Amino acid sequence: MPDIDLELRRITKRYGSFLAVDNLSLDIARGTFTCLLGPSGCGKTTTLRCIAGLEQIDSGDILIGGRSIADAPPWQRDIAMMFQDFALFPHMTVARQVGFGLEMLKQPRAEVARRVAAMLKTFEIDHLAGRKPATLSGGQRQRAALARALITEPRILLLDEPIGSLDFSLREMVMFELKAVQRRLGISFVWVTHDQTEAFSLGDLVVVMNRARIEQVGSPADILERPRSAFVAGFIQGNNVFRGTVTAAQDGMVRIATGVGEFLVPVLNGSTPPTGGAVSFSVRAERITDQPGAEHANRLSVRCGAVEFFGAVRRYFMHQADSQILKVDQFGAQAARLREGDQATIGWRAADGVLHHGDGGSP
Ligand code: ATP
Repeated sequence: MPDIDLELRRITKRYGSFLAVDNLSLDIARGTFTCLLGPSGCGKTTTLRCIAGLEQIDSGDILIGGRSIADAPPWQRDIAMMFQDFALFPHMTVARQVGFGLEMLKQPRAEVARRVAAMLKTFEIDHLAGRKPATLSGGQRQRAALARALITEPRILLLDEPIGSLDFSLREMVMFELKAVQRRLGISFVWVTHDQTEAFSLGDLVVVMNRARIEQVGSPADILERPRSAFVAGFIQGNNVFRGTVTAAQDGMVRIATGVGEFLVPVLNGSTPPTGGAVSFSVRAERITDQPGAEHANRLSVRCGAVEFFGAVRRYFMHQADSQILKVDQFGAQAARLREGDQATIGWRAADGVLHHGDGGSP
């Protein structure tokens, strides 16, 4: 299957009795920018290291370009890897670093020189060829590392939190430069991050992991608009997650009793959960209004506990009794409508609730 760059088939990796990657399967189509996203310790880096051949899987198979490479050493996998601190060799000039992979492959000297020159030009660092890493800026180091990783023309580039160590001002620039490089070269990137902004800005495909497993795979829009589980909804910024019990089903909707009231939620793909069953659903904070009209069937009386800015968004933290806190978002540039301590009725359209698959929702 030449159109699939990477196929993970039920891979499992244990450290002693600890399961770090649990029966994980994933297909990555040619030239895809994939982000592995999840909380610390969920198994992202281990998955990447298994793909790279830095860890041996205990079971399953890994195919790159349709060829099983599970038993191949890292240098025979058609991959390259870029680490968080770029792992440049401090004593080597930029030109030598970039040529290093080809030297290891015992390419003729003239060929190495030719390809290094071309690579330095591609990344606009030819003027830095004779410099050592300590004398480079963060962005220049990153380009040198990228040129070094890509000179062997790998099918897949694996990146482990590659911009995690850069200061904020540089991160955005570097992030979009990497995306542009990926598009231009058409090779697949597999990028590990715990930062959802990064994942949603860059990824064609976002893979949300939790406790050694995949929770959801989809485009950023899929994951934002249709989180599959309470875990995904809770992990992604801006969702309100509700847990409850189905009390009735009617016209493609279920009525769900929660600790703060009963709400109507659309059923998923026509499959209605049983009455009495435990379910969870979520509603995005920007879908909730403090000025509900006739179309906002789901309503709730709350007290505004706090108002804070999240970037350009003004977020109200609403309390009902002393239990659930709901987030309501408004564009920050609009005038504030509520203040701390205000009572309000909030509401959302039934269609804006997203029922999760299966679980009663323990993350
Ligand atoms: P982070 O974002 O913090 O890097 P991660 O999702 O990349 O997290 P991994 O580094 O893949 O997580 O680790 C997954 C689990 O496996 C963690 O609980 C970690 O402690 C454990 N683990 C990783 N490497 C080893 C090892 N060499 N020996 C034992 N346990 C390990």
